[in-house]
Amino acid sequence: MIIRLSKFAMSACLALGSLYAFAQKAPRQGDPKLTEYWEPEVRLVTPGKTNADPPSDAIVLFDGKDASKWKAQKDGGAVKWKIEDGALVVAGGTGGIETKEAFGDCQLHIEWRTPAEVKGESQGRGNSGIFLMNRYELQVLDSYKNRTYSNGQAGSMYKQFPPLVNASRGPGEWQTYDIIFTAPVFYEDGALKSPARITVFHNGVLIQNNTTIWGATQYIGTPNYEKHNAKEPISLQDHGNPTAFRNIWIRPI
Ligand code: MG
Repeated sequence: MIIRLSKFAMSACLALGSLYAFAQKAPRQGDPKLTEYWEPEVRLVTPGKTNADPPSDAIVLFDGKDASKWKAQKDGGAVKWKIEDGALVVAGGTGGIETKEAFGDCQLHIEWRTPAEVKGESQGRGNSGIFLMNRYELQVLDSYKNRTYSNGQAGSMYKQFPPLVNASRGPGEWQTYDIIFTAPVFYEDGALKSPARITVFHNGVLIQNNTTIWGATQYIGTPNYEKHNAKEPISLQDHGNPTAFRNIWIRPI
């Protein structure tokens, strides 16, 4: 009897508990105002005239004329890449460039163009790259009728994930990347708390869908994470090819 009573008591408690949980999740009835909140008001941003133009709250990293938000990786001095017809063009051998400012989570718009004159093949055609946090490379390459390893073509997270599709335009044509990047988070002791993630649109086409990045890009061997700052510069690669960039803007998230 005692056992039966306690079983009954347990059932009653469970039922009450379920009822309470249901009440917490159930839509609130009656006044519709109970499910509205007004504060904080959502910040106003004025979009650009086209989706490629920087919205009002973007930091413009390159406007076609001024590369002063960048520095040379070799010596920290002024960039030695050429500014030609509103584009920042890789000067092979001068090394990569990186932003003076550091960034973590962000939305990044960047336009790029591989050389109109096709030289080389596979990884040798218009190779450059966008290194988020100076470590995680989104590949830039002439991937128009240019077979290479799939996880090394344009739009790949280099040596990790190929793009979902090949949305490449031809050599000499301007192309866009719209990137949403979530920085990795580390514990104090250096262990990884949460990996980096990336979403990319290539010429408006989704090619990376919240991809979880395995770690810092490696040319040889497996990628891994090593603790770094919550914000790091963004860098562009000198791979020896005169690939060009323009209209670079960023919105820290
Ligand atoms: Mg590259």
